[in-house]
Amino acid sequence: MEKIVSLAKRRGFVYQSSEIYGGFAGVYDFGPMGVELERNLKEQWWKKMVYERDDIVGLDSAIFMDPKIWEASGHTKGFSDPLVECRKCHKRFRADKILEEIGVPADEKMSEDEINKIFGENKDKIKCPECGKQNFTKVRKFNLLVKSNLGDFTNDNSKPVYLRGETCQGIYVNFKNVLDSTRLKIPFGIAQIGKAFRNEISPRQFLFRGREFEQMEMQYFTRPEDEMKEFEKLREYRWSALLELGISEKNLSWKRHENLVFYAKDAYDIEYNFPWGFDELEGVHARGDYDLTQHSKGCGKQLDYYDQEKNEKFIPHIIESSGGVGRLFFAIMLDAYTEDEMSGETRVFLKFRPEIAPIKAAVFPLLKNKPELVAKAKEVYEMIKKEIHPVVFDDNGNIGKRYRRQDEVGTPYCVTIDFDTMEDDTATLRNRDTGKQERVNIKEIISRLKI
Ligand code: ATP
Repeated sequence: MEKIVSLAKRRGFVYQSSEIYGGFAGVYDFGPMGVELERNLKEQWWKKMVYERDDIVGLDSAIFMDPKIWEASGHTKGFSDPLVECRKCHKRFRADKILEEIGVPADEKMSEDEINKIFGENKDKIKCPECGKQNFTKVRKFNLLVKSNLGDFTNDNSKPVYLRGETCQGIYVNFKNVLDSTRLKIPFGIAQIGKAFRNEISPRQFLFRGREFEQMEMQYFTRPEDEMKEFEKLREYRWSALLELGISEKNLSWKRHENLVFYAKDAYDIEYNFPWGFDELEGVHARGDYDLTQHSKGCGKQLDYYDQEKNEKFIPHIIESSGGVGRLFFAIMLDAYTEDEMSGETRVFLKFRPEIAPIKAAVFPLLKNKPELVAKAKEVYEMIKKEIHPVVFDDNGNIGKRYRRQDEVGTPYCVTIDFDTMEDDTATLRNRDTGKQERVNIKEIISRLKI
């Protein structure tokens, strides 16, 4: 964990928000390398969930919505985590997570009474993760919705609007719009990537738990009797999508939810082997007709589907795939992090698949002080840049250092222009993972770099 966090900062992947002011908890900024990796991950998700599917379309709904939506969905009342405070150091924690850490099963869906009972029964075993004392307040439910005064000019803040706590509500409330403006027939899905906000009680664990984060969600509308069949298909689809990104299968596992919310038919999480153990990377959930039924009641309009062939109306059932960009980003960094030995030194490199690597190739002149090499390297760099991006040019420091710099950000290939290039128009192409170099004709370089 420490190695990744420090590499992420050192090489421009992730910075703590507002760092020069001491840092702002639970919020992160993505640097020049991070923004590329993040965009690539979102692009791969979109490709898999929208472009490769004839039955799924995209959406970009707004962050702000009518607050009635959060009432109908149950978030204003039920979107909460169990909060407990250490009386000594006044740090706040999620009671279910503290219990889980000592091996006592608990989750955020338990009632206040239930979790207080379990917390009480185990109080001798629970120490404050911060100061080690054993003196806690009672557990109380804390609502995670983040409030704003958008459009409220009264100063009393009595009618807050919310920054969305999840992106999928924007999909549910646009179900009819999408249906009416496309030729889609059930089953079909709507996918969206966007920011979500939650007042997380203790946003630790780096990108795993932020207060501002991005979600990638796809809601799939089915006939009621097809829900579970489609659910199984979606589970398989998501699993293979993660493998295609290059995540090792040994670091992934399925976890079935034991304590289902009352409306859910079934729910699984795909967990990743984070530094503290297997934990939720993304979820695949069968949600029944709860969401459209709730919004139908909330807005007073029918949100049903008319099946022309069968001449029947029904409220579609929904299965969802829901994952966080930050969690995937973190998992991908962990999975790609590799140390080996090269030229008698320990080398760190990120073994990203080329399609998600922040930089696709780097071009170097062997020596900085030979104008003819620099000019030729610039020419090759400009040529590659027209077809593949991003590509970088680097003539700083010795060649070994330049390779290491690219290894640390996961650049799959480096192209070096040397004296032989001037003779025979070939360059060395160095492979990040093996460190092996081969001579390639400059004309062939682009096709070799293309993914
Ligand atoms: P957890 O139990 O870890 O709090 P959750 O079950 O509340 O997560 P969901 O509401 O199902 O999570 O959200 C779907 C996905 O969004 C999660 O699988 C995760 O990848 C991502 N996600 C949720 N909360 C956060 C957060 N605070 N920071 C980063 N990603 C998050």
